[in-house]
Amino acid sequence: MMTEENPYQSGIAYTDGSFCPIEEARIPILDWGFLRSDANQDTVSVWNGMFFRLEDHLDRFQRNNEKLRFKIPLSRDEIRTVLIDLVQESGFQNAYVQMLMTRGRPPIGVRDLRMCENRFHAFCLPYIWLAPEEVRHRGLHAHISPIQRISSHSVDPTIKHYHWLDFQMGLFEAYDSGAETVILTDSEGNITEGPGFNVFMVEKNSLFTPASGVLEGMTRRTVFELCELEGIRSVETSISPERLHSAEEVFLSSTAGGLIPVTQLDGLSIGSGKPGETTLLLNQSYWKRRLEGWHATKIHDEEP
Ligand code: PLP
Repeated sequence: MMTEENPYQSGIAYTDGSFCPIEEARIPILDWGFLRSDANQDTVSVWNGMFFRLEDHLDRFQRNNEKLRFKIPLSRDEIRTVLIDLVQESGFQNAYVQMLMTRGRPPIGVRDLRMCENRFHAFCLPYIWLAPEEVRHRGLHAHISPIQRISSHSVDPTIKHYHWLDFQMGLFEAYDSGAETVILTDSEGNITEGPGFNVFMVEKNSLFTPASGVLEGMTRRTVFELCELEGIRSVETSISPERLHSAEEVFLSSTAGGLIPVTQLDGLSIGSGKPGETTLLLNQSYWKRRLEGWHATKIHDEEP
């Protein structure tokens, strides 16, 4: 029997109103999303054929588009339909789905931002993990960088933006020091977040995470809910690098992997040097509840 090859097996994109294989998706060079990092995105995951917190992601996307004064060419219902179509066309059961707005460009010769035609794009890839399985299993090795996360007085950190040169350079610093990822600090020297994740620590049966200067991650919000369900206290506060170093457990939270243990910071072990009990309990609870349909939107195939 001949099998037809899925043209979207590596991923699928939606741009300018049509779908194409991910390798063919393009942003015009003059789009200010590219030239000025003038963009907003949101990323939602699909596990076992179910979106997680889809409506919450759509809320955050819309709220941030308003903050950035983007005029969205699609309604919320149309965006939701595009995202569902992307996953259905891809055939992926586990996927990483990103929706984004770019500023577009004004007519040639004009620099007035208000004359840009804002553009909506989206794409769907096989599920992406923040770290490979063996690294997640033994715990990530992270580096705390003196590089400051772009100030929240300059760019609102609750917008899921692409101002990532601080993270990118921090990552090179981490690789040079033998670590796999980086955590940036703020102007006071306190912990903020890292490339694609929020940071948590466990101390005396309670969870602590930075209160400000960070993206209000959807997984971070989920961790707060899990804590309530599991009877664990969670606190938003400021965390110094020294305090993080002396934590019993440290983990990262992200759409790209859930809760991921960190077992080394700057070459020094955290706690026992193994993924901690609370981290493992909450991560198991996260994935179990997801499989059971917690906060889920099922992706049904259209009726024939
Ligand atoms: N912080 C930053 C800077 C991020 O880019 C991300 C996700 O990409 C997160 C935190 C985690 O957010 P979420 O849990 O919504 O994936």
